[in-house]
Amino acid sequence: MKFLKHYRFLLLRRTIQLGLLFLYFMANYAGWKLLSGNLSASEVLGVIPLSDPLAILQLFLAGGALGANALLGAFIIAAFYALFAGRAFCAYVCPMNLITDSANYLRRLLGIDTLQRRLLLRRHARYWVLGMALLLSLVLGLPAFEFISPIGILHRGIIFGMGMGGAAILIVFLFDLLAVKNGFCGHLCPLGAFYSLIGRYSLLKVRYQKESCTLCMKCKEVCPEKQVLDLIGKQSGYVLSGECLNCGRCIEVCEGNSLGFSIRSLIEFKKDEKHENIKA
Ligand code: SF4
Ligand code: SF4
Repeated sequence: MKFLKHYRFLLLRRTIQLGLLFLYFMANYAGWKLLSGNLSASEVLGVIPLSDPLAILQLFLAGGALGANALLGAFIIAAFYALFAGRAFCAYVCPMNLITDSANYLRRLLGIDTLQRRLLLRRHARYWVLGMALLLSLVLGLPAFEFISPIGILHRGIIFGMGMGGAAILIVFLFDLLAVKNGFCGHLCPLGAFYSLIGRYSLLKVRYQKESCTLCMKCKEVCPEKQVLDLIGKQSGYVLSGECLNCGRCIEVCEGNSLGFSIRSLIEFKKDEKHENIKA
C-alpha cells in the first residue's frame, strides 16, 4: 500500500503512456479502431479527430492545406490542455518522457555529475527553439520541427518499427544522462514550451499549504522543473507556472501532505493573479 501511495501518479502516468502506445500499435498491427494514427494526427473510433496543435500551426505557417478534421483535432487537444490539464501531455502522453525519466533515474543511481554548469544551457532556450521552429516553417515552407522531432521518431519507431531513428533517441538519452539534467524536456523541446505557454491558465494545478510543510525540500529534489516550486517555504498557493507538468512527483514524495492537485476555481485564480501583480 505504501508503494502504491508513493508511486500512484507515476503508475498512472506509465499506465496511460503505455496504454496509448499499445492502442496505436494494435491499430497498425491488428486493425483496432479505438485509437489509430500517430501523435501528429489520430482518430478515436475512426470518428473523432485528434491533432498535435503545434504540428498544425507549423503546417499552417508552411502554407500547407489544412482539412476541417485536422483543425478540429487540433482545437480539441489545445482546448483540453489549455482549459484543464496544463502541460500534462509531457508527463502522461509523450513517449519521450519514458526515455528522459530513465536517464534521470540512471543518473541518480550512478551519481553522475552532468556537464550542466559548463554548458550554460538555460531553461528558456526551449522558447527560442519554439520560435525558431515556427520561423523556419514559415521560411522553408515545411513543418520544421516535425521533420526532426525525436518525439515523432520515437512514437513511429514504437508503432511501425525503429530504424536509424534509434540513434536520435540514444542521443536524447545520453544528453539527459551525461550533459544536462532534464536536458531535452526541460530545456530544448519546443512542444514542451508550446504546452507550457498554452497550459498557463489551465484549471488543474498543484496546490501548496505552507502550514504543514516541514521544509524537507524533497519536492524540489524530484521535480523536473523545480523553478516552478519557488513558493515552497514562502507562501501557500498554487503552482501557477505553465512549466509544471502536473506529473505529481512532488505530491508523492511530500510526507507533510502539503501538496496536492486542485481544480482551481476561476475566482481563486483571479485573486492569485491580482496577488501576483501586486507583488510584482
Ligand atoms: S516535500 Fe512537502 S514537506 Fe517537504 S518541502 Fe516540499 S512541500 Fe514541504
Ligand atoms: S511541481 Fe510537482 S507536478 Fe509540477 S512538474 Fe514539479 S513535480 Fe511535477
